[in-house]
Amino acid sequence: MKRREFLSLAGALAAGTMLPLGGARGATGAHVVILGGGVGGATAAKYLRLMDPAIRVTIVEKERRYLRPYGSSEVITGHVGLSDLEIDYTPLQSKYGVTFVFDEAVGFDPIAQRLALKGGESLSYDRLIVSPGIQLLYDQIEGHSEALAKARFPAAWIPGSQTQLLRNQLESMPQGGTFAIVAPPNPFRCPPGPYERGALVAEWCQRHNPRAKILILDPRNSFVTDQSMMLGWNRLYGFNIPLEFMADMPDDVQTHANPGLIEWIRQQDGGTLISLDAGSKALETEGGRVSADVINIIPPMRAGAIAEAMGLTDASGFCPIDPMTFESRLQPKVHVIGDACIADQMPKSGYAANNQAKVTARALVDLFAGREPGPPSWQNTCYALAGSEYGLFVAAVYRLQDGRITAHPGVRFQSLDATPAQIRLGAVYQQNWLASFTEDCFA
Ligand SMILES: Cc1cc2nc3c(=O)[nH]c(=O)nc-3n(C[C@H](O)[C@H](O)[C@H](O)COP(=O)(O)OP(=O)(O)OC[C@H]3O[C@@H](n4cnc5c(N)ncnc54)[C@H](O)[C@@H]3O)c2cc1C
Repeated sequence: MKRREFLSLAGALAAGTMLPLGGARGATGAHVVILGGGVGGATAAKYLRLMDPAIRVTIVEKERRYLRPYGSSEVITGHVGLSDLEIDYTPLQSKYGVTFVFDEAVGFDPIAQRLALKGGESLSYDRLIVSPGIQLLYDQIEGHSEALAKARFPAAWIPGSQTQLLRNQLESMPQGGTFAIVAPPNPFRCPPGPYERGALVAEWCQRHNPRAKILILDPRNSFVTDQSMMLGWNRLYGFNIPLEFMADMPDDVQTHANPGLIEWIRQQDGGTLISLDAGSKALETEGGRVSADVINIIPPMRAGAIAEAMGLTDASGFCPIDPMTFESRLQPKVHVIGDACIADQMPKSGYAANNQAKVTARALVDLFAGREPGPPSWQNTCYALAGSEYGLFVAAVYRLQDGRITAHPGVRFQSLDATPAQIRLGAVYQQNWLASFTEDCFA
Protein backbone atom coordinates (compact mmCIF):
# COMPACT_ATOMS: atom_id res chain seq x y z
CA MET A 1 0.00 0.00 0.00
CA LYS A 2 1.24 3.47 -0.81
CA ARG A 3 2.13 5.57 2.26
CA ARG A 4 -0.48 8.19 1.23
CA GLU A 5 -3.25 5.55 1.11
CA PHE A 6 -2.16 4.10 4.44
CA LEU A 7 -2.20 7.51 6.10
CA SER A 8 -5.64 8.38 4.77
CA LEU A 9 -6.99 5.03 5.98
CA ALA A 10 -5.29 5.43 9.38
CA GLY A 11 -6.75 8.96 9.60
CA ALA A 12 -10.24 7.71 8.83
CA LEU A 13 -9.96 5.03 11.49
CA ALA A 14 -8.55 7.49 14.05
CA ALA A 15 -11.45 9.86 13.39
CA GLY A 16 -13.85 7.00 14.09
CA THR A 17 -15.06 6.95 10.47
CA MET A 18 -16.67 3.63 9.66
CA LEU A 19 -15.40 1.77 6.65
CA PRO A 20 -18.25 1.25 4.20
CA LEU A 21 -19.92 -2.02 5.09
CA GLY A 22 -20.76 -4.79 2.66
CA GLY A 23 -24.22 -3.45 1.88
CA ALA A 24 -23.14 0.12 1.05
CA ARG A 25 -22.01 0.99 -2.47
CA GLY A 26 -18.65 2.78 -2.48
CA ALA A 27 -17.27 5.34 -4.93
CA THR A 28 -16.42 2.74 -7.55
CA GLY A 29 -19.52 0.69 -6.74
CA ALA A 30 -17.51 -2.45 -7.43
CA HIS A 31 -18.40 -5.68 -5.67
CA VAL A 32 -15.78 -8.41 -5.31
CA VAL A 33 -17.01 -11.82 -4.21
CA ILE A 34 -14.37 -14.17 -2.79
CA LEU A 35 -14.93 -17.92 -2.76
CA GLY A 36 -13.07 -19.38 0.22
CA GLY A 37 -12.06 -17.72 3.49
CA GLY A 38 -8.71 -19.50 3.88
CA VAL A 39 -5.28 -17.90 3.57
CA GLY A 40 -5.73 -16.66 -0.01
CA GLY A 41 -9.35 -15.50 0.28
CA ALA A 42 -8.98 -13.79 3.67
CA THR A 43 -5.84 -11.92 2.63
CA ALA A 44 -7.42 -10.77 -0.63
CA ALA A 45 -10.48 -9.48 1.27
CA LYS A 46 -8.46 -7.60 3.86
CA TYR A 47 -6.08 -6.00 1.37
CA LEU A 48 -8.82 -5.02 -1.10
CA ARG A 49 -10.54 -3.14 1.73
CA LEU A 50 -7.26 -1.55 2.86
CA MET A 51 -6.27 -0.50 -0.66
CA ASP A 52 -9.71 0.84 -1.64
CA PRO A 53 -12.39 1.00 1.06
CA ALA A 54 -14.93 1.89 -1.65
CA ILE A 55 -14.84 -1.67 -2.96
CA ARG A 56 -17.45 -3.97 -1.41
CA VAL A 57 -16.09 -7.39 -0.48
CA THR A 58 -18.07 -10.54 0.33
CA ILE A 59 -16.47 -13.84 1.34
CA VAL A 60 -18.43 -17.05 0.73
CA GLU A 61 -17.09 -19.73 3.09
CA LYS A 62 -18.61 -23.12 3.80
CA GLU A 63 -17.16 -23.51 7.31
CA ARG A 64 -17.92 -21.13 10.19
CA ARG A 65 -14.44 -21.66 11.65
CA TYR A 66 -11.22 -21.89 9.70
CA LEU A 67 -8.62 -24.42 10.82
CA ARG A 68 -5.23 -23.36 9.53
CA PRO A 69 -3.34 -26.15 7.74
CA TYR A 70 0.05 -24.51 8.32
CA GLY A 71 1.50 -25.73 11.60
CA SER A 72 -1.10 -28.53 11.78
CA SER A 73 1.44 -31.38 12.04
CA GLU A 74 2.16 -30.04 15.51
CA VAL A 75 -1.27 -31.28 16.59
CA ILE A 76 -0.20 -34.84 15.76
CA THR A 77 2.70 -34.60 18.19
CA GLY A 78 0.69 -32.72 20.81
CA HIS A 79 2.65 -29.45 20.71
CA VAL A 80 -0.71 -27.75 20.14
CA GLY A 81 -4.33 -28.92 20.20
CA LEU A 82 -6.75 -28.93 17.26
CA SER A 83 -8.58 -25.94 18.73
CA ASP A 84 -5.32 -23.91 18.57
CA LEU A 85 -5.61 -24.04 14.77
CA GLU A 86 -8.98 -22.25 14.85
CA ILE A 87 -9.13 -18.77 13.40
CA ASP A 88 -11.84 -16.27 14.15
CA TYR A 89 -13.36 -14.27 11.28
CA THR A 90 -14.57 -11.41 13.52
CA PRO A 91 -11.65 -8.98 12.79
CA LEU A 92 -12.18 -9.22 9.04
CA GLN A 93 -15.81 -8.24 9.59
CA SER A 94 -15.44 -5.62 12.32
CA LYS A 95 -12.11 -3.99 11.38
CA TYR A 96 -12.28 -4.17 7.60
CA GLY A 97 -16.00 -4.34 6.82
CA VAL A 98 -15.82 -7.64 4.94
CA THR A 99 -19.24 -9.31 4.59
CA PHE A 100 -19.37 -13.07 5.21
CA VAL A 101 -21.89 -15.50 3.74
CA PHE A 102 -21.51 -18.91 5.36
CA ASP A 103 -22.67 -21.21 2.59
CA GLU A 104 -21.15 -23.52 0.00
CA ALA A 105 -20.57 -22.20 -3.51
CA VAL A 106 -21.90 -24.74 -6.01
CA GLY A 107 -21.44 -23.08 -9.40
CA PHE A 108 -21.70 -19.80 -11.27
CA ASP A 109 -23.20 -18.02 -14.24
CA PRO A 110 -20.27 -16.36 -16.03
CA ILE A 111 -22.53 -14.28 -18.31
CA ALA A 112 -24.78 -12.89 -15.57
CA GLN A 113 -21.72 -12.81 -13.22
CA ARG A 114 -23.46 -14.56 -10.35
CA LEU A 115 -22.07 -17.12 -7.89
CA ALA A 116 -24.59 -19.82 -6.97
CA LEU A 117 -24.84 -21.03 -3.37
CA LYS A 118 -26.05 -24.36 -2.01
CA GLY A 119 -28.69 -22.57 0.06
CA GLY A 120 -30.39 -21.43 -3.18
CA GLU A 121 -29.24 -17.79 -3.20
CA SER A 122 -26.85 -16.33 -5.73
CA LEU A 123 -24.50 -13.34 -5.42
CA SER A 124 -23.69 -10.91 -8.22
CA TYR A 125 -20.10 -9.81 -8.65
CA ASP A 126 -17.99 -7.47 -10.75
CA ARG A 127 -14.98 -9.70 -10.16
CA LEU A 128 -14.82 -13.09 -8.49
CA ILE A 129 -11.73 -14.36 -6.62
CA VAL A 130 -11.59 -18.13 -6.15
CA SER A 131 -9.32 -19.58 -3.44
CA PRO A 132 -10.82 -22.99 -2.54
CA GLY A 133 -7.57 -24.77 -1.66
CA ILE A 134 -7.22 -28.42 -2.58
CA GLN A 135 -9.19 -31.66 -2.75
CA LEU A 136 -7.54 -34.96 -1.83
CA LEU A 137 -7.86 -37.77 -4.39
CA TYR A 138 -8.12 -40.79 -2.09
CA ASP A 139 -9.72 -42.92 -4.82
CA GLN A 140 -6.66 -42.59 -7.04
CA ILE A 141 -4.92 -45.07 -4.73
CA GLU A 142 -6.05 -48.64 -5.26
CA GLY A 143 -7.71 -49.98 -2.14
CA HIS A 144 -8.10 -46.53 -0.57
CA SER A 145 -11.16 -44.29 -0.15
CA GLU A 146 -12.26 -41.18 1.74
CA ALA A 147 -14.22 -43.40 4.14
CA LEU A 148 -11.05 -45.37 4.98
CA ALA A 149 -9.09 -42.14 5.45
CA LYS A 150 -11.69 -40.86 7.90
CA ALA A 151 -11.89 -44.10 9.86
CA ARG A 152 -8.42 -45.69 9.76
CA PHE A 153 -5.77 -44.21 7.46
CA PRO A 154 -5.90 -40.43 7.89
CA ALA A 155 -4.25 -38.01 5.50
CA ALA A 156 -4.50 -35.06 7.92
CA TRP A 157 -3.54 -32.70 5.09
CA ILE A 158 -6.69 -30.59 5.46
CA PRO A 159 -6.99 -30.17 9.23
CA GLY A 160 -9.95 -31.57 11.10
CA SER A 161 -11.03 -34.93 12.50
CA GLN A 162 -8.32 -36.79 10.52
CA THR A 163 -5.65 -34.72 12.28
CA GLN A 164 -7.04 -35.74 15.67
CA LEU A 165 -7.30 -39.38 14.57
CA LEU A 166 -3.63 -39.41 13.54
CA ARG A 167 -2.69 -37.89 16.90
CA ASN A 168 -4.61 -40.64 18.71
CA GLN A 169 -3.05 -43.35 16.54
CA LEU A 170 0.47 -42.11 17.29
CA GLU A 171 -0.26 -42.12 21.02
CA SER A 172 -1.61 -45.66 20.98
CA MET A 173 1.04 -47.10 18.64
CA PRO A 174 2.69 -50.16 20.27
CA GLN A 175 6.27 -49.81 21.55
CA GLY A 176 8.66 -50.46 18.67
CA GLY A 177 5.82 -49.91 16.16
CA THR A 178 6.04 -48.52 12.63
CA PHE A 179 4.56 -45.17 11.53
CA ALA A 180 4.44 -44.92 7.71
CA ILE A 181 4.03 -41.58 5.93
CA VAL A 182 3.26 -41.76 2.21
CA ALA A 183 4.34 -38.54 0.47
CA PRO A 184 2.15 -37.44 -2.45
CA PRO A 185 3.23 -36.97 -6.07
CA ASN A 186 3.91 -33.42 -7.37
CA PRO A 187 2.43 -30.87 -7.30
CA PHE A 188 1.16 -30.75 -3.74
CA ARG A 189 0.36 -28.43 -0.85
CA CYS A 190 3.38 -27.64 1.32
CA PRO A 191 6.39 -29.32 -0.35
CA PRO A 192 8.53 -29.63 2.85
CA GLY A 193 5.48 -30.82 4.86
CA PRO A 194 5.73 -34.65 4.74
CA TYR A 195 9.42 -34.52 5.75
CA GLU A 196 8.79 -32.06 8.57
CA ARG A 197 5.97 -34.31 9.78
CA GLY A 198 8.37 -37.29 9.74
CA ALA A 199 10.85 -35.32 11.84
CA LEU A 200 8.26 -34.18 14.40
CA VAL A 201 6.90 -37.71 14.77
CA ALA A 202 10.49 -38.97 15.23
CA GLU A 203 11.09 -36.38 17.96
CA TRP A 204 7.92 -37.48 19.74
CA CYS A 205 8.92 -41.15 19.44
CA GLN A 206 12.39 -40.42 20.83
CA ARG A 207 10.69 -39.51 24.12
CA HIS A 208 7.71 -41.86 24.17
CA ASN A 209 8.46 -44.79 21.84
CA PRO A 210 12.24 -44.92 21.27
CA ARG A 211 12.29 -48.23 19.39
CA ALA A 212 9.69 -47.00 16.86
CA LYS A 213 10.39 -46.63 13.14
CA ILE A 214 9.20 -43.76 10.94
CA LEU A 215 9.09 -44.73 7.27
CA ILE A 216 8.72 -42.02 4.64
CA LEU A 217 7.65 -43.60 1.35
CA ASP A 218 8.34 -41.22 -1.51
CA PRO A 219 7.60 -41.12 -5.25
CA ARG A 220 10.62 -38.72 -5.59
CA ASN A 221 14.40 -38.96 -5.25
CA SER A 222 14.85 -35.49 -3.77
CA PHE A 223 12.74 -32.83 -2.08
CA VAL A 224 12.90 -29.13 -1.24
CA THR A 225 15.20 -28.47 1.76
CA ASP A 226 16.39 -32.10 1.44
CA GLN A 227 20.03 -31.60 2.44
CA SER A 228 19.32 -29.39 5.46
CA MET A 229 16.45 -31.66 6.57
CA MET A 230 18.61 -34.79 6.28
CA LEU A 231 21.38 -33.08 8.22
CA GLY A 232 18.85 -32.41 10.98
CA TRP A 233 17.64 -36.03 10.85
CA ASN A 234 21.26 -37.19 11.06
CA ARG A 235 22.03 -35.06 14.08
CA LEU A 236 18.79 -35.68 15.92
CA TYR A 237 17.56 -39.16 14.94
CA GLY A 238 20.55 -41.16 13.69
CA PHE A 239 19.57 -40.98 10.00
CA ASN A 240 22.26 -42.10 7.56
CA ILE A 241 22.46 -39.54 4.72
CA PRO A 242 22.63 -41.13 1.23
CA LEU A 243 25.98 -40.54 -0.49
CA GLU A 244 24.57 -38.29 -3.26
CA PHE A 245 23.47 -35.79 -0.60
CA MET A 246 26.80 -35.64 1.21
CA ALA A 247 28.34 -32.78 -0.84
CA ASP A 248 29.14 -29.75 1.36
CA MET A 249 27.93 -31.49 4.53
CA PRO A 250 29.68 -30.30 7.71
CA ASP A 251 32.23 -32.48 9.53
CA ASP A 252 29.95 -33.52 12.37
CA VAL A 253 27.80 -35.75 10.09
CA GLN A 254 27.95 -39.29 11.45
CA THR A 255 27.48 -42.71 9.94
CA HIS A 256 25.42 -44.66 12.43
CA ALA A 257 25.98 -48.39 12.88
CA ASN A 258 22.28 -48.98 13.54
CA PRO A 259 19.62 -47.29 11.42
CA GLY A 260 17.93 -44.50 13.34
CA LEU A 261 14.29 -43.63 13.81
CA ILE A 262 13.68 -42.33 10.27
CA GLU A 263 13.95 -44.34 7.09
CA TRP A 264 13.43 -42.48 3.80
CA ILE A 265 12.46 -44.88 1.00
CA ARG A 266 12.76 -42.82 -2.14
CA GLN A 267 11.55 -43.58 -5.65
CA GLN A 268 14.76 -45.31 -6.75
CA ASP A 269 14.53 -47.61 -3.72
CA GLY A 270 10.92 -48.53 -4.51
CA GLY A 271 9.17 -45.85 -2.42
CA THR A 272 6.31 -45.23 -4.89
CA LEU A 273 2.96 -46.47 -3.53
CA ILE A 274 0.96 -48.91 -5.64
CA SER A 275 -1.96 -49.82 -3.38
CA LEU A 276 -3.30 -50.05 0.16
CA ASP A 277 -4.24 -53.39 1.66
CA ALA A 278 -6.61 -52.09 4.33
CA GLY A 279 -7.48 -55.56 5.68
CA SER A 280 -3.93 -56.41 6.70
CA LYS A 281 -2.75 -52.80 7.25
CA ALA A 282 -0.08 -52.95 4.58
CA LEU A 283 1.14 -50.89 1.65
CA GLU A 284 2.17 -52.37 -1.67
CA THR A 285 5.05 -50.30 -3.02
CA GLU A 286 7.30 -50.63 -6.04
CA GLY A 287 9.92 -51.96 -3.63
CA GLY A 288 7.65 -54.56 -2.02
CA ARG A 289 5.13 -54.93 0.78
CA VAL A 290 5.37 -52.67 3.84
CA SER A 291 3.32 -53.34 6.99
CA ALA A 292 2.82 -50.55 9.51
CA ASP A 293 0.94 -49.87 12.74
CA VAL A 294 0.00 -46.33 11.68
CA ILE A 295 -0.48 -45.46 8.00
CA ASN A 296 -0.61 -41.79 7.05
CA ILE A 297 -1.28 -41.61 3.30
CA ILE A 298 -1.13 -38.10 1.86
CA PRO A 299 -2.91 -38.74 -1.43
CA PRO A 300 -2.47 -36.98 -4.80
CA MET A 301 -4.29 -33.65 -4.93
CA ARG A 302 -6.00 -31.22 -7.27
CA ALA A 303 -7.63 -27.79 -6.99
CA GLY A 304 -10.69 -27.70 -4.69
CA ALA A 305 -13.69 -29.47 -6.30
CA ILE A 306 -15.60 -26.25 -6.95
CA ALA A 307 -12.81 -25.01 -9.26
CA GLU A 308 -13.32 -28.05 -11.43
CA ALA A 309 -17.12 -27.65 -11.37
CA MET A 310 -16.71 -24.04 -12.52
CA GLY A 311 -14.53 -25.02 -15.49
CA LEU A 312 -11.45 -23.31 -14.07
CA THR A 313 -9.09 -26.33 -14.19
CA ASP A 314 -7.09 -27.80 -17.06
CA ALA A 315 -5.87 -31.38 -17.55
CA SER A 316 -3.42 -30.97 -14.64
CA GLY A 317 -6.35 -30.55 -12.23
CA PHE A 318 -5.20 -27.03 -11.31
CA CYS A 319 -6.19 -23.61 -12.66
CA PRO A 320 -4.23 -21.79 -15.36
CA ILE A 321 -4.03 -18.03 -14.74
CA ASP A 322 -2.50 -14.86 -16.17
CA PRO A 323 0.20 -14.12 -13.57
CA MET A 324 -0.17 -10.33 -14.02
CA THR A 325 -3.65 -10.36 -12.45
CA PHE A 326 -4.32 -14.02 -11.57
CA GLU A 327 -7.33 -13.85 -13.92
CA SER A 328 -8.34 -17.31 -15.10
CA ARG A 329 -7.23 -18.22 -18.60
CA LEU A 330 -10.50 -20.15 -18.95
CA GLN A 331 -13.17 -17.86 -17.44
CA PRO A 332 -13.13 -14.05 -17.69
CA LYS A 333 -13.52 -11.84 -14.58
CA VAL A 334 -12.66 -14.80 -12.34
CA HIS A 335 -9.29 -14.78 -10.56
CA VAL A 336 -7.83 -17.93 -8.99
CA ILE A 337 -5.22 -17.75 -6.22
CA GLY A 338 -3.59 -20.00 -3.64
CA ASP A 339 -3.07 -23.75 -3.87
CA ALA A 340 -5.71 -24.06 -6.62
CA CYS A 341 -3.83 -22.00 -9.21
CA ILE A 342 -0.86 -22.84 -11.41
CA ALA A 343 1.74 -20.33 -10.24
CA ASP A 344 4.70 -21.74 -12.18
CA GLN A 345 7.74 -21.88 -9.87
CA MET A 346 5.91 -20.68 -6.74
CA PRO A 347 5.18 -23.52 -4.28
CA LYS A 348 1.72 -24.30 -2.96
CA SER A 349 2.27 -22.61 0.39
CA GLY A 350 0.33 -20.25 2.61
CA TYR A 351 3.02 -17.63 2.18
CA ALA A 352 2.59 -17.86 -1.61
CA ALA A 353 -1.24 -17.72 -1.36
CA ASN A 354 -0.96 -14.58 0.80
CA ASN A 355 1.38 -12.92 -1.72
CA GLN A 356 -0.79 -13.86 -4.68
CA ALA A 357 -3.81 -12.41 -2.87
CA LYS A 358 -2.02 -9.06 -2.45
CA VAL A 359 -0.95 -8.98 -6.11
CA THR A 360 -4.54 -9.77 -7.15
CA ALA A 361 -6.02 -7.12 -4.83
CA ARG A 362 -3.64 -4.52 -6.26
CA ALA A 363 -4.51 -5.55 -9.84
CA LEU A 364 -8.27 -5.32 -9.15
CA VAL A 365 -7.94 -1.86 -7.58
CA ASP A 366 -6.06 -0.77 -10.73
CA LEU A 367 -8.56 -2.40 -13.09
CA PHE A 368 -11.55 -0.80 -11.34
CA ALA A 369 -9.79 2.59 -11.55
CA GLY A 370 -9.15 2.08 -15.27
CA ARG A 371 -5.39 1.72 -14.78
CA GLU A 372 -3.15 -0.93 -16.29
CA PRO A 373 -1.84 -3.13 -13.41
CA GLY A 374 1.91 -2.67 -12.88
CA PRO A 375 4.44 -5.53 -13.08
CA PRO A 376 4.13 -7.69 -9.97
CA SER A 377 6.77 -9.43 -7.90
CA TRP A 378 6.30 -12.10 -5.26
CA GLN A 379 8.16 -13.76 -2.44
CA ASN A 380 7.94 -16.95 -0.44
CA THR A 381 9.60 -18.31 2.68
CA CYS A 382 8.90 -21.85 3.84
CA TYR A 383 10.03 -22.64 7.37
CA ALA A 384 10.26 -26.28 8.37
CA LEU A 385 11.22 -27.98 11.62
CA ALA A 386 13.57 -30.94 11.88
CA GLY A 387 12.80 -30.82 15.63
CA SER A 388 10.88 -28.39 17.82
CA GLU A 389 14.15 -26.48 18.41
CA TYR A 390 15.72 -27.14 15.02
CA GLY A 391 14.44 -24.74 12.31
CA LEU A 392 15.16 -24.66 8.56
CA PHE A 393 14.04 -22.30 5.84
CA VAL A 394 14.02 -21.74 2.09
CA ALA A 395 13.29 -18.24 0.77
CA ALA A 396 12.81 -16.91 -2.77
CA VAL A 397 11.78 -13.78 -4.65
CA TYR A 398 9.93 -14.17 -7.96
CA ARG A 399 9.37 -11.98 -11.00
CA LEU A 400 7.77 -12.36 -14.41
CA GLN A 401 10.09 -13.74 -17.04
CA ASP A 402 8.72 -14.68 -20.48
CA GLY A 403 5.24 -14.61 -19.00
CA ARG A 404 6.05 -17.08 -16.23
CA ILE A 405 6.54 -16.60 -12.49
CA THR A 406 10.24 -17.28 -12.14
CA ALA A 407 12.49 -17.36 -9.07
CA HIS A 408 15.37 -14.90 -8.95
CA PRO A 409 18.59 -16.92 -9.18
CA GLY A 410 19.51 -16.16 -5.55
CA VAL A 411 17.08 -18.60 -3.86
CA ARG A 412 18.23 -18.86 -0.26
CA PHE A 413 18.35 -22.10 1.64
CA GLN A 414 19.53 -22.23 5.19
CA SER A 415 23.22 -22.96 4.75
CA LEU A 416 24.51 -26.36 5.80
CA ASP A 417 27.08 -24.68 8.04
CA ALA A 418 24.45 -22.79 10.07
CA THR A 419 25.55 -22.49 13.69
CA PRO A 420 23.58 -24.13 16.53
CA ALA A 421 22.32 -20.64 17.46
CA GLN A 422 21.11 -19.98 13.91
CA ILE A 423 19.34 -23.35 13.86
CA ARG A 424 17.67 -22.67 17.20
CA LEU A 425 16.70 -19.20 15.95
CA GLY A 426 15.21 -20.83 12.83
CA ALA A 427 12.70 -22.57 15.09
CA VAL A 428 11.97 -19.31 16.95
CA TYR A 429 11.43 -17.50 13.62
CA GLN A 430 9.08 -20.26 12.50
CA GLN A 431 6.90 -19.74 15.57
CA ASN A 432 7.02 -15.94 15.23
CA TRP A 433 6.23 -16.18 11.52
CA LEU A 434 3.21 -18.35 12.31
CA ALA A 435 1.75 -15.69 14.62
CA SER A 436 2.54 -12.64 12.48
CA PHE A 437 1.47 -14.38 9.26
CA THR A 438 -1.90 -15.34 10.76
CA GLU A 439 -2.36 -11.73 11.82
CA ASP A 440 -1.47 -10.47 8.34
CA CYS A 441 -4.10 -12.74 6.74
CA PHE A 442 -6.94 -12.64 9.25
CA ALA A 443 -6.65 -9.76 11.72
C1 LIG B 1 0.89 -29.95 7.40
C2 LIG B 1 0.93 -28.64 6.67
C3 LIG B 1 1.90 -27.69 7.00
C4 LIG B 1 1.95 -26.49 6.30
N1 LIG B 1 2.91 -25.58 6.66
C5 LIG B 1 3.02 -24.42 5.97
C6 LIG B 1 4.01 -23.48 6.31
O1 LIG B 1 4.82 -23.68 7.24
N2 LIG B 1 4.11 -22.34 5.59
C7 LIG B 1 3.23 -22.07 4.57
O2 LIG B 1 3.36 -21.01 3.95
N3 LIG B 1 2.25 -22.95 4.23
C8 LIG B 1 2.13 -24.11 4.88
N4 LIG B 1 1.13 -25.00 4.55
C9 LIG B 1 0.30 -24.75 3.35
C10 LIG B 1 -0.84 -23.73 3.55
O3 LIG B 1 -1.63 -24.05 4.66
C11 LIG B 1 -1.70 -23.68 2.28
O4 LIG B 1 -0.84 -23.50 1.17
C12 LIG B 1 -2.72 -22.55 2.33
O5 LIG B 1 -3.65 -22.78 3.34
C13 LIG B 1 -3.43 -22.37 0.98
O6 LIG B 1 -4.39 -21.35 1.05
P1 LIG B 1 -5.71 -21.41 0.13
O7 LIG B 1 -6.43 -20.14 0.33
O8 LIG B 1 -5.30 -21.80 -1.24
O9 LIG B 1 -6.53 -22.65 0.69
P2 LIG B 1 -7.15 -22.89 2.17
O10 LIG B 1 -6.36 -22.16 3.19
O11 LIG B 1 -7.31 -24.36 2.30
O12 LIG B 1 -8.59 -22.21 2.10
C14 LIG B 1 -9.61 -22.71 1.27
C15 LIG B 1 -10.95 -22.32 1.87
O13 LIG B 1 -11.97 -22.46 0.87
C16 LIG B 1 -13.12 -23.01 1.48
N5 LIG B 1 -13.93 -23.65 0.41
C17 LIG B 1 -13.54 -24.63 -0.44
N6 LIG B 1 -14.54 -24.92 -1.30
C18 LIG B 1 -15.58 -24.10 -0.99
C19 LIG B 1 -16.89 -23.93 -1.53
N7 LIG B 1 -17.34 -24.66 -2.56
N8 LIG B 1 -17.70 -22.98 -0.99
C20 LIG B 1 -17.25 -22.22 0.06
N9 LIG B 1 -16.02 -22.36 0.63
C21 LIG B 1 -15.19 -23.28 0.09
C22 LIG B 1 -12.55 -23.99 2.50
O14 LIG B 1 -13.50 -24.31 3.51
C23 LIG B 1 -11.35 -23.22 3.03
O15 LIG B 1 -11.69 -22.42 4.16
C24 LIG B 1 1.02 -26.21 5.25
C25 LIG B 1 0.03 -27.16 4.94
C26 LIG B 1 -0.02 -28.37 5.63
C27 LIG B 1 -1.09 -29.37 5.28
